Amino acid sequence: MSIAIHQAICLRDNYLVLLRDEETGRTISIDAPDAAAITAALKQKEWHLTDILVTHKHHDHVGGIAALRETFGCAVIAPTRAKIDVPDADRYCDDGDNITIGNLDFEAMATPGHCDDHMAYYSRRKALLFAGDALFAMGCGRVLEGKPEILYHSLMRLADLPDETSVYCGHEYTVANARFALSVDGTNPDIASRTAEVEALRQREAMTLPTTIGLEKRTNVFLRAGSAEKFVALREAKNRF
Ligand SMILES: [Zn+2]
Repeated sequence: MSIAIHQAICLRDNYLVLLRDEETGRTISIDAPDAAAITAALKQKEWHLTDILVTHKHHDHVGGIAALRETFGCAVIAPTRAKIDVPDADRYCDDGDNITIGNLDFEAMATPGHCDDHMAYYSRRKALLFAGDALFAMGCGRVLEGKPEILYHSLMRLADLPDETSVYCGHEYTVANARFALSVDGTNPDIASRTAEVEALRQREAMTLPTTIGLEKRTNVFLRAGSAEKFVALREAKNRF
């Protein structure tokens, strides 16, 4: 079974991610940041959108749902805890649920911290993780609801996935994250070389994602914090950086 993945940057720094099961034609949008940009990408690929997988309730992730639904009649799968903001999903999911779309299957992983309803989607067979705004390349989401320790716990769950897992995220924040990482752990050669790499990529407006769990374990200071206490201090320092 083969799949195709297309990603691009939309709005200011959101990622548009489309995933297609070539055998069945089922085509998934991870979130719906920008209906016009997603529709244009689908048209260019000659793909028909069948499903939207929602990671969390923020407007820059769900704002395009209504328009995409009207255009494509696609199904919407959202976290149960996002129900107030995504009121008419076709299916709601909770931690540990299995979601099958064509030949693809995902495990819903509750990853609160950025917000209470946050869900990541993991395909073990394809070694793919859609991490939304929980984990970013060299960084993590801001804590907008609840305690930062909750996000730390969520990130530790993601860090336990196999190193080779490809990770797609909700935003292109890598350069800012890299600069913070250097300020925290400037003698780490992996962080130094990755910083140079991602700065060069962004200079020519190329994307720095996807990343992998293994690369994040080497270069993401939040995953490397070592304790919830140190993580909380780092998250606070990043807010002020
Ligand atoms: Zn968000």
